[in-house]
Formats: sequence, C-alpha cells, structure tokens
Amino acid sequence: MPGVGTNWAGNVVYGARELLLPTHLGELPGLITSAHRLRAIGSRHSFNDLADSPESLISLQGIPVDLERDVEFDSDARTVRVPGWLRYGDIAALLADRGWALANLASLPHISIAGAVATGTHGSGDRIGSLATQVVALDLVDGTGTHRRIARGDESFEGAVVSLGALGVVTHVTLAVEPDYQVRQSVYEGATWDAVLANLDELTGAGDSVSLFTTWRSPDLVDQLWVKSRQGRDPWTPLDGIVAAAGARHPIPGIDPAPATEQLGRVGPWFARLPHFRLEFTPSAGEEIQTEYLVPREDFPAAIGAIRSLSARIAPLLQVCEVRTVAGDDLWLSEAHGGDVVGIHFTWVRDSEAVAAVLPEVEAALPPTARPHWGKVFADHDRIAALYPRWDDFRALRRSLDPDNRFVNGFIERVGLA
Ligand SMILES: Cc1cc2nc3c(=O)[nH]c(=O)nc-3n(C[C@H](O)[C@H](O)[C@H](O)COP(=O)(O)OP(=O)(O)OC[C@H]3O[C@@H](n4cnc5c(N)ncnc54)[C@H](O)[C@@H]3O)c2cc1C
Repeated sequence: MPGVGTNWAGNVVYGARELLLPTHLGELPGLITSAHRLRAIGSRHSFNDLADSPESLISLQGIPVDLERDVEFDSDARTVRVPGWLRYGDIAALLADRGWALANLASLPHISIAGAVATGTHGSGDRIGSLATQVVALDLVDGTGTHRRIARGDESFEGAVVSLGALGVVTHVTLAVEPDYQVRQSVYEGATWDAVLANLDELTGAGDSVSLFTTWRSPDLVDQLWVKSRQGRDPWTPLDGIVAAAGARHPIPGIDPAPATEQLGRVGPWFARLPHFRLEFTPSAGEEIQTEYLVPREDFPAAIGAIRSLSARIAPLLQVCEVRTVAGDDLWLSEAHGGDVVGIHFTWVRDSEAVAAVLPEVEAALPPTARPHWGKVFADHDRIAALYPRWDDFRALRRSLDPDNRFVNGFIERVGLA
C-alpha cells in the first residue's frame, strides 16, 4: 500500500498507513472515535516525526473554505476566527483589507495556523510573543469525539494552545488582531559577535522584529542584521562599523534575493515585510533540515559562545544560522514559557546522518536551559520534561482529553508525555 508521503523537507517519510481527508467537519467525531491511533497533519512543515502516526493521519485541507463566510471578524473583541488548516498567507491580505493585522508572522507565510500554534512557532521581537500568544480561543474535537471550545480565561487554556497535536483535532483558531499597520525592512552588514554581545539590547531592539544571520564561516562576524520596524518608529542609527546593505539580500549570502520580502527601507503592508520570504515563492534555499534552541535571554551570551566555539564543526553542514528574540509567555509547553528567550536556529543541508551526528555536540555545549523547537530536529528527548514546569499538568490535560491515547505517537512517547 502506498504511504502517505513525506514532510515538506522530505527528510521524514511518514509511517502512517493512511491519510484521512474529510470534506466536512461533521465527519470528524466519527473518524476520530473509529481510529485507534490518529494524528492531525497541517502543512507538513515540521522537520521531525511529531506529526506522524503509527496508523492514520487526518488532514482538514480537503474541506472547502469560503474566506468571506468562514473568516469571522469580531471588531469589538478585536478577534478573527479562522479555519485552522488555512495558512497565514491565506488570511493575511483579507485581514489587511478589513483594516486588521496580526502582531507577528514566522519566517514564511506558507505554514498552517493550527500547525504553527501547536509547536510554538515564532517570528522575532523583544516585545512580541510567539504566534501561539495571538490565540484567544481554540475549537477542537478531542479524543472522545467531543467538540470543545477552549478560550482565554478557561482553566486549561494555557495548556491547550501549544498542544503538539496531542489534545485533539483543532478545527478553528481565534486570533487577536490589531489595527492594520505598515512596516519597513532594512538589512545591515558589518556587525561582529563581540559588538552584538556588548550591545545586545540595542541590536535586538533596533526594530520591532530583528534577525541576525550568519553562516559561521567566520566565528567573529555576523553576516546580516534584518530590522523590521513599524511605520512611525524612528529609524535605527547603526553602531559604528555596521552599514546598510547596498542592495536586497537573501539570508544566505550570494543567493538571489528574489524570494525574499521587500527591503531597502521601503514601507509596505505588515504581511509583506514580517516574513522573510514571499508567499508566491517556494521559500528558502531548497533542501534543508532545521534545528532551533531557545534559551533564556540571560543565557544567550553563554549559548552563542558555545556555538562560536563549534563554528568550524558547524559551518560545513550549515546553510545559515538565525538568531531571533521572543517575548516570554505563560503557555505550558511554549518554548518561551516563563520569560523572554533568544532562539538560535540552524538551517542545515539536508544530510540527516551528518546533522544527527553534530546535534549531540551542540546540545552538550549549550546551557542546560536550552529548549529545542518542537517542530525541528533535536537529539536528546529525555531531558525535555525537566525544562517545562507545567509538564505534569499537560500530561494530565492530555489524558483527560484523550483517555484512549488516540493522539499518542512515537514522539509523544519519546519525550514522556504519553
Ligand atoms: C521553511 C520553513 C520555515 C520555518 N520557519 C519557522 C519560523 O520562522 N519560526 C518557527 O518557529 N518555526 C518555523 N518553522 C517550523 C514550523 O513553523 C513548525 O514546524 C510548524 O509546527 C509547522 O506547521 P505545519 O502546519 O506544517 O504542521 P505539521 O508539521 O503538519 O504538524 C506540526 C504539529 O501540529 C499538529 N497539527 C497540525 N494541524 C493540526 C490540527 N488541525 N489540529 C491539531 N494539531 C495539528 C500536528 O499534529 C503536529 O503535532 C519553519 C519550517 C519550515 C519548513
């Protein structure tokens, strides 16, 4: 029997035997309760087996959507309720047309909303939380086939948002919106890690959303600083030695910048500047594997020092490394739970064996507080539980919503959440 295919990157061949494709939401309770093991799958952008199932996958992408009818605005509450299987790029222009915006987006708009929220997907911003913090309510069908709406203020809300797909199939996500705004994006070059560490708050606060990119071909230099600022904010005055790039840039030096969002300080819609890549292009450099560790902000100097000391080992396997900041939150399984964090992200070449060999070295060097991104590749699954103070509460919530363990898979077992 043919399999259900691979993830977006092609580095994971799903082991599930079948892909269920309902055409209306009314089918969900029956499909869930007649399954023994089942997982919801989104846009397949995770790099590990988190979304896989030993038996069945279910995708909601076959359910027809009429954006005018199915995207529901509540101007008084400043929220929008959307089908969870839509991608951020599917709703962004509609939001802007209606005068609304989201607080942030990830590096590309091709990721499904329910899938992004389930793993704590984030963009960058000292004062902006992950995309999961935009959620004000979730509608899901749990492991007993029961429809539930879990909203801010409910006892289990903080547990239910970053769910790892283990609590049920999310049908709708209600997101906080704010008035539409414009953003300008500028890229700078010439920073050194010494200057970054000496001026961390100034550099990560140079705009509303800042990313540092490097290939680690030099242990001392940062290749690019991407600064995204809302219109109205004063332009940043670069530190000595840092200069505005002369032309548009791709995060990986030397690659055609055509897929990248507009730069050179040109003002434009929030959804066309906050991601690094445009919706209409296949993002990134092609075949890749991603890894990311999020460390408390105070541990960032030690963490980046550890990566610098491994730069000669890392560089040959790396396409690019990105450093971003994320404001802390209260969501139980959020990588930013409990305080502000800095993410150190690696886009590796697509060589699973070589990446698997280097990750234990990276993890041994990082501070023990480093939390791996749930949707990316990491090595040590045993130490994860100790990094999350609400771990046991999440396990209890999981058992109450999925008493028959339908949404348990190998990943959920490996990290100890079964
Ligand atoms: C090119 C690229 C760029 C990326 N950029 C970023 C970035 O900027 N920032 C960042 O933080 N991450 C980034 N990621 C990682 C990505 O955002 C996460 O892996 C995200 O979870 C993928 O969402 P998805 O819809 O593809 O989910 P999938 O990979 O399909 O699934 C991920 C999880 O979500 C669950 N899920 C999906 N849909 C549902 C549903 N309807 N109900 C319940 N559970 C569901 C699945 O069960 C699984 O547990 C990137 C990935 C790629 C490939």
